[in-house]
Amino acid sequence: MPRPQPPSVLAIVAHPDDIEFSAAGTMLLLKEVGWQLHYFNISGGDCGSTKTGRDETRRIRARESQAAAEVLGAEFHPSVGNDMLIFFGEELLRKVAAVVRKAQPRIVLTHSPQDYMEDHMNACRLAVTAAFTHGMPNFETDPAVAPYDGDVTVYHAMPHGLCDGLRQPVEPDFFVDVERQRAAKRQALACHESQRAWLDESQGFDYLAACDAMSASVGRLSGTFAHAEGWRRHLHLGYSAEDTCPLSEALAPSLVHHNPHVSKPIVSLNTASNESPQAP
Ligand SMILES: [Zn+2]
Repeated sequence: MPRPQPPSVLAIVAHPDDIEFSAAGTMLLLKEVGWQLHYFNISGGDCGSTKTGRDETRRIRARESQAAAEVLGAEFHPSVGNDMLIFFGEELLRKVAAVVRKAQPRIVLTHSPQDYMEDHMNACRLAVTAAFTHGMPNFETDPAVAPYDGDVTVYHAMPHGLCDGLRQPVEPDFFVDVERQRAAKRQALACHESQRAWLDESQGFDYLAACDAMSASVGRLSGTFAHAEGWRRHLHLGYSAEDTCPLSEALAPSLVHHNPHVSKPIVSLNTASNESPQAP
């Protein structure tokens, strides 16, 4: 089955609110240039409360996530798993692969292969393999969804803390300027009201400020932007042509330029000028 127009991007993450922290700004920029957005948390976030039970917490967080997806203008895909129980295995793989086939993404955004917790790393593995199976007729998804043809490119977000589990810094391939998307990111994150209240009162953790702090940290890493999201492109083998980078191509090729600090390209749609790309 051929992929429909316009192109779509699917974010596959472990938990409700992960998209807002690390990918929402990039998704909003893609929407501005005509892409359809798809929003998928593998876990329903059932452990994210000390006051309500698992079922009620899952219901509350599904409502919050749906509201956040609406703020972003993204199609919401219901969660299929539970907190701390995202394992790389057949049951979840078939369910995640079904979401991939429904969304038919040209781009899949997911966690870093190395991150601070297993749910994130296992969600990443599920996303990567589900994307790999998108065109395989003999791979059955749950529920059954027809395969589709065409390239899929997978990108990995920056890990929490911007380092791997052994405290080694992770450097992105490129940065996306999300200064202009900060307010919308915060608005989407604020939809996760149960988390905001819980973290504020139990840990003195300012939820919305933490989102700003993360994009500011990535911005500092860029050496250029005040607020940024960073991305690494997954190896093309089995997914797409070698030289294709649909994320940077979609986000204005005329504004890709070299960053002397990290020796990697930078993408910005927020720059007013029509400055030409600089030679690397
Ligand atoms: Zn998470």
